[in-house]
Amino acid sequence: MTIRTEVCVVGGGPGGRALALALVRRGRQVVLLEQRAGAARAFRGESLSPDGVRLLAGLGVLDRVREHTHEVHRLEIADGGRHVLDVHFDAFPYAYRHPVELAQPVLLAALARAADEHGGCTVLEPASPTALLIERGAVRGVRARTPEGIVEIRADMTVGADGRYSSVRRLAGLGHGTVRTPLERDVIWLKLPFPAAWDRRAYRVRISAGRHGLFLPSTDGTLRVGLNIPKGALRELRSGGIGQLHARLAELAPELEREAAEGIRSWSDTHLLDIFTTEVRRWSAPGIVLIGDAAHTLSPILGQGVNHALADAVALAPLIACALEAPRSGRQPALGAAALAFQRDRESAVRRSRRLQLRQERMFTLSAPPATALRRTIYRALNTSPALQRRVFAPAYFPGQRPEPADRPTRTEQRT
Ligand SMILES: Cc1cc2nc3c(=O)[nH]c(=O)nc-3n(C[C@H](O)[C@H](O)[C@H](O)COP(=O)(O)OP(=O)(O)OC[C@H]3O[C@@H](n4cnc5c(N)ncnc54)[C@H](O)[C@@H]3O)c2cc1C
Repeated sequence: MTIRTEVCVVGGGPGGRALALALVRRGRQVVLLEQRAGAARAFRGESLSPDGVRLLAGLGVLDRVREHTHEVHRLEIADGGRHVLDVHFDAFPYAYRHPVELAQPVLLAALARAADEHGGCTVLEPASPTALLIERGAVRGVRARTPEGIVEIRADMTVGADGRYSSVRRLAGLGHGTVRTPLERDVIWLKLPFPAAWDRRAYRVRISAGRHGLFLPSTDGTLRVGLNIPKGALRELRSGGIGQLHARLAELAPELEREAAEGIRSWSDTHLLDIFTTEVRRWSAPGIVLIGDAAHTLSPILGQGVNHALADAVALAPLIACALEAPRSGRQPALGAAALAFQRDRESAVRRSRRLQLRQERMFTLSAPPATALRRTIYRALNTSPALQRRVFAPAYFPGQRPEPADRPTRTEQRT
């Protein structure tokens, strides 16, 4: 079977679904391929930065998911058992100033439903590409495996939105020159009953010498914990039994002893995230372009992955839509120029986030006493200076917003 469309999107994560929606809203025809049937996914991208919230509003999806979001008002960092930083998002002078927690299956279902209601998007699920269709040196779609057999999707533009291990990137030869930087640690994600005495509107970071953990309120009422361990150390930790994990947690949050015993009975209650960043040199080739994690994988610090996937989709859609207006003879060059303009537009924002994350990662892994003392001094200085807080958070949380009076209600407050 052959399907003819304008844009073939491979991958139904936040990036692919948002792009499909943004394109059909502009009247374009899309076929989206997702390898898994259903949107179930655990421990994936629940924290959405304020900029991600703004982008969802722009896509007309925020109102659809609002009742499933959990707004966060504070970030609290304790280092060596001492409280060193308390950031109040209410005080930031932006219309969208709060990060929110939003389960990824809810987000994906809302994006899919909005595209479906609009019309123009055909979803093949489960389906994954086995090869790219190449004609005269340009990608013209994909050959895909589906339960009904092999399908050819012929498209003017193919988009690889298939995540950090992108097979589209490999098939298109765009992996060449990619820099994959493993970070010094991995993260074990787990969920615990939410402690009664803790503020449900706060993100907490606990640091102890070179170890740290993230403690985030989850939309399902639990506490989502990201516990860092040295790279590759899971096997050794596991060999000591689940009690080792409880002890590791107690070092950072002794008050969670009961919750840990209740919430983590075996290693199957945990999920390991291999932390690395990927810098892909070229995001496009004739007829094909990468977005989201396929183009740039980030670390989990400050919930940047989903945000950048959404930002890519929102930036790319108008460029593709405009190029598709070109007469047939000029369409491929126009699409190629659109893909290059997209990378030029987005690359610096991704780079700024990566730099901020790497700086933060290095701070977290300092373990020598003089270095940890310096770290505490830096956090305390940040704590006393709202202007400094704005400078530090702006590239990650508010890149698409202009400051406005801080006492104005936020966009989310205005509508609730
Ligand atoms: C454990 C964990 C926790 C995270 N927490 C956060 C967080 O709190 N906040 C945050 O912002 N980010 C977080 N991230 C990162 C975030 O999930 C990603 O950055 C974001 O989802 C990227 O979106 P994407 O659409 O580019 O890729 P993905 O979300 O990876 O989506 C890719 C999609 O493509 C599909 N796919 C893959 N290969 C194929 C194929 N061959 N054919 C068809 N379909 C295919 C996949 O099934 C998937 O649905 C986390 C990641 C992990 C792993």
